[in-house]
Amino acid sequence: MEQTKRIAVFPGSFDPFTIGHKAILDMALPLFDTIIVAIGVNSEKKDFFPIEKRINHILSIYTNNPKIQVETYTSLTIDFCKLKNAMFILRGLRNTTDFQFEKSIAQMNRQLSPNIETVFLVTPPEYGHVSSTIVRELIRYGADISKYIPGNID
Ligand code: ADP
Repeated sequence: MEQTKRIAVFPGSFDPFTIGHKAILDMALPLFDTIIVAIGVNSEKKDFFPIEKRINHILSIYTNNPKIQVETYTSLTIDFCKLKNAMFILRGLRNTTDFQFEKSIAQMNRQLSPNIETVFLVTPPEYGHVSSTIVRELIRYGADISKYIPGNID
């Protein structure tokens, strides 16, 4: 019998994709056959980097890795998972604030779709302070962000 492929969706804004996101994705690689980095497109949220730039940036980091795909979606995350036959949602945890927030979303998702499991990976301590929000703030003030962004976004 053919084994079912373990497909995970890694949802987020990735505005921009940071070394923290990369650490979570790299740790998750041995666990799954395919990981779809899913950029949620939300008309209510104001983008900093255009979607195309975010996609190309992430793709440029994983050009040699056929396990990684990058897509955008506008639906509920669980509906996107169903569309992609993904049984897993991947999320990263930095601290207790992340945990509180993520726990409610994961519990809600389980109620909506009991067959989809959320998998949490804890960030390596050296990346615990890295967030897209802080990176955007640094850019606004003209600071160097190269330490926090893998590869090059421009
Ligand atoms: P969202 O807007 O959905 O929170 P983000 O792009 O900010 O999207 O984050 C996507 C996922 O990556 C989330 O699970 C978030 O907790 C995780 N993440 C972000 N930064 C880090 C980091 N430095 N270490 C570990 N996980 C992180």
